[in-house]
Amino acid sequence: MTLINENYLNLQGSYLFAEVARRTAAYKASHAGQEVISLGIGDVSRPLVPAVVEAMKKACDEMGQAETFRGYGPYEGYDFLRKAIAEHDYRARGIEIGEDEIFVSDGAKSDVANFQELFSSSARVALQDPVYPVYLDTNVMAGRSGTCKEGQFERIIYLPCTAENHFAPQLPKEHADLVYLCSPNNPTGTAMSKAQLKKWVDWANEHKAVILYDSAYEAFIRDENLPHSIYEIPGAQTCAVEFRSFSKTAGFTGTRCAYCVVPKALKIEDETGSEHALNALWLRRQSTKFNGVPYIVQRGAEAVFTPQGLTQTRQIIDGYLENARVMLSALRQAGFTAYGGENAPYVWLKTPKGLSSWDFFDLMLEKLQIVGTPGSGFGRAGEGYFRLTAFNTPQLTQQAAQRIASFSF
Ligand SMILES: *Cc1c(COP(=O)(O)O)cnc(C)c1O
Repeated sequence: MTLINENYLNLQGSYLFAEVARRTAAYKASHAGQEVISLGIGDVSRPLVPAVVEAMKKACDEMGQAETFRGYGPYEGYDFLRKAIAEHDYRARGIEIGEDEIFVSDGAKSDVANFQELFSSSARVALQDPVYPVYLDTNVMAGRSGTCKEGQFERIIYLPCTAENHFAPQLPKEHADLVYLCSPNNPTGTAMSKAQLKKWVDWANEHKAVILYDSAYEAFIRDENLPHSIYEIPGAQTCAVEFRSFSKTAGFTGTRCAYCVVPKALKIEDETGSEHALNALWLRRQSTKFNGVPYIVQRGAEAVFTPQGLTQTRQIIDGYLENARVMLSALRQAGFTAYGGENAPYVWLKTPKGLSSWDFFDLMLEKLQIVGTPGSGFGRAGEGYFRLTAFNTPQLTQQAAQRIASFSF
């Protein structure tokens, strides 16, 4: 008899986006002719920039010529891209990261999902609440969660991030081995300061814990005082792995390219106390389970760092941030308390009159024909909040903003 991996049966149904789609479709079916605007989109909407498209076309031609054709590439990414990343994302900010500490991949989602494989199945996991659901679900699959009671897993350490603590995760009271930090945060739109991150880096070094730092929205940071990388904090290279992606930075959600940084100085112990470099283990893992990102895509990603690529992608992100500004100002005009949206493409608002996230979803849909995402779908501490995204077009975002500003709750 073949037995199933019981851990998978522990997963809680991810009904969030399915339920959003179901309620939206039901509303549209009974209200033909009303235009529903979605501010729930978690995907970019602007196309790839010309610099990237040109580079990919050129690479495509190379692939069609015997002299320049390439088959399997290096598991860890082509040198040209790893060099460009080390130079532009790190050295330019005064951070020394070696090219051999950078691993190119097909997504930050796969990387943050897979990285936990390097740790013992008894490792204690801490994560922000609310947060991107992948960290939790992959640890449930790996058997680290214990059982779920009243919406929370027994062995997971939840770090509530609410208005009361300015959406900043507080150090856990109990021991944790792995901590997932997402900054700028999806869904709260809040970014961690250097002082907040330093607290975590010092704690991790002291407790021999590892920080898995998801910085998928780094390119949205505009506040000059906020750190773009965890390695801006002294000591981070002995305790942190950083995940970045071209998805939200340069519209690669459908093209697929990301990377993670695993510093060679980051070592963890086995049961006997001998140390092992995560960098070597991750290379071993990737070379066994992954065959690299397409050459054409990596040439496209390299072009993000050219002067044209940098200017063009920055303009697109500025456009999304302008959408966020428009939403924030409409929300405040209507009397809402709203957060985020300044260094992230997410606006996070407090539901009025103590409404639950789902009741507020229904209200927005019925009164304003606007779809957003209920905060409770990202974790228990997201209850009473609501997420709006800046990824729609400027026109539809403006229209939605007018509806919001003119409504009184
Ligand atoms: C979108 C997103 C990702 C996924 O990035 P990909 O590179 O497209 O896989 C990772 N982390 C967070 C928090 C995200 O919102």
